[in-house]
Amino acid sequence: MKTIIEPFRIKSVEPIYFNTTKQRTKLIKNAHYNPFLLKSEDVMIDLLTDSGTSAMSSEQWAGIMRGDESYAGSPSFLRFEKTVNEITGMPNIIPTHQGRAAEKIIFSILGGKGKYFIANTLFDTTRANIEFSGATGIDLLCDEGKHPTIAAPFKGNMDTKALRAEITQKGAENIPMVIITVTNNSGGGQPVSMHNIKEVKKICTEFNIPFFIDACRFAENSYFIKMREPGYQTKSVQEIAFEMFSMADGCTMSAKKDAFANIGGFLAMHDSELATKCRNVLIITEGFPTYGGLAGRDLEAISIGLKEVMSEDYLHYRIRSMEYLTEKLAEEGVPVMQPAGGHAVYLDAKQFLNHIPVDQYPGQALACALFVAGGIRSCEIGSLMFGKYNIDGKLIPAQLELVRLAIPRRVYTQSHIDYVAEVIIEVFQNRGALKGMKIMEEAKLLRHFTAKLEPLS
Ligand SMILES: *Cc1c(COP(=O)(O)O)cnc(C)c1O
Repeated sequence: MKTIIEPFRIKSVEPIYFNTTKQRTKLIKNAHYNPFLLKSEDVMIDLLTDSGTSAMSSEQWAGIMRGDESYAGSPSFLRFEKTVNEITGMPNIIPTHQGRAAEKIIFSILGGKGKYFIANTLFDTTRANIEFSGATGIDLLCDEGKHPTIAAPFKGNMDTKALRAEITQKGAENIPMVIITVTNNSGGGQPVSMHNIKEVKKICTEFNIPFFIDACRFAENSYFIKMREPGYQTKSVQEIAFEMFSMADGCTMSAKKDAFANIGGFLAMHDSELATKCRNVLIITEGFPTYGGLAGRDLEAISIGLKEVMSEDYLHYRIRSMEYLTEKLAEEGVPVMQPAGGHAVYLDAKQFLNHIPVDQYPGQALACALFVAGGIRSCEIGSLMFGKYNIDGKLIPAQLELVRLAIPRRVYTQSHIDYVAEVIIEVFQNRGALKGMKIMEEAKLLRHFTAKLEPLS
């Protein structure tokens, strides 16, 4: 087997500014031991998120120039609409400025008090928009998805038995929608099988409940189906994606993920009556239906990106990059989530730093250590992000203490990834010296974005 090379050449570059361990020690202190508070120019390898951080192609940049900024009926919108229609088969396509804007529209119409939205796992913004409407979000992830080291092919699947039970208990009339997130972002970027999507669709049809897909990583999920699910090896990713979307009544999408765009999203659906209601909200909050919250040039970039992302050479390289980093780390005994997901590699900080108790935020300590050792920015997904306090002010920890290394699309090369592995392995070998963290200042909601911390002595 030869090396799997990046399926692109580099035409335009951005500099990385190198700094030293000594400088980074000071930088992270000045950022109050919170990587969100670092300046991005001080970061050498930025793995904070894969959202909006993709490198656009020369074709996308050409599309940016071609973008037509007409307020109504722009050809850029018509091209965007045609592409999304070809991929999803859905006739009503509504552009929005981000995925969460699409969510805001659909949940403000279908949500409200006494309503339940059931999913494999709702992404944060999806849950927030559901709850903001007064409704309740329910996650019914399959059992194997809850264990970070169990190797299973489709750990993003929904527990269909639990779905049936939940519908019977809550009443189908109180459930405006069932949602499958592909891949399951909050569950480690793990894929959902076509079989599971079909089972969920069958149950939804039986109870007459609309079924939507949160499609942010539809191409990565389709590629996992091609690789892992019997019967799909000879189908193209586009055919698999179309089959997946054909099960759904609608979808929401953030173009900042699998459309290689820096901004954008959409809402698509079959039901024209519901689409009319959505467009009426769209006009108040986003803009006229042929541009949503976007410039014509963004619509071009998205529509070109949506086609490019289904290239199997690209997806092969993309999915392999996650496996490659996961394997390198696992070989050295670094506790890492298995199998690798589609867009990120997750370190198990509870095991990595098993001398630091969870109320001293081992994930945050590890994220800071990766920055100091190698200028790598990652994101704690543990008790700093999801922890709560009981009435005595004692921490109720999160289920898992993870550090996410999200890999931007088409941005970093294999030598960057090799370097990331080397830094993590070095930190792992010296882990005994790392100290826990103490929160000095925090906000009531979403504290991980702004919290100020200090290492314990
Ligand atoms: C990013 C994301 C969203 C929200 O999209 P934004 O463009 O960031 O608003 C929704 N669902 C999933 C699964 C996501 O990954």
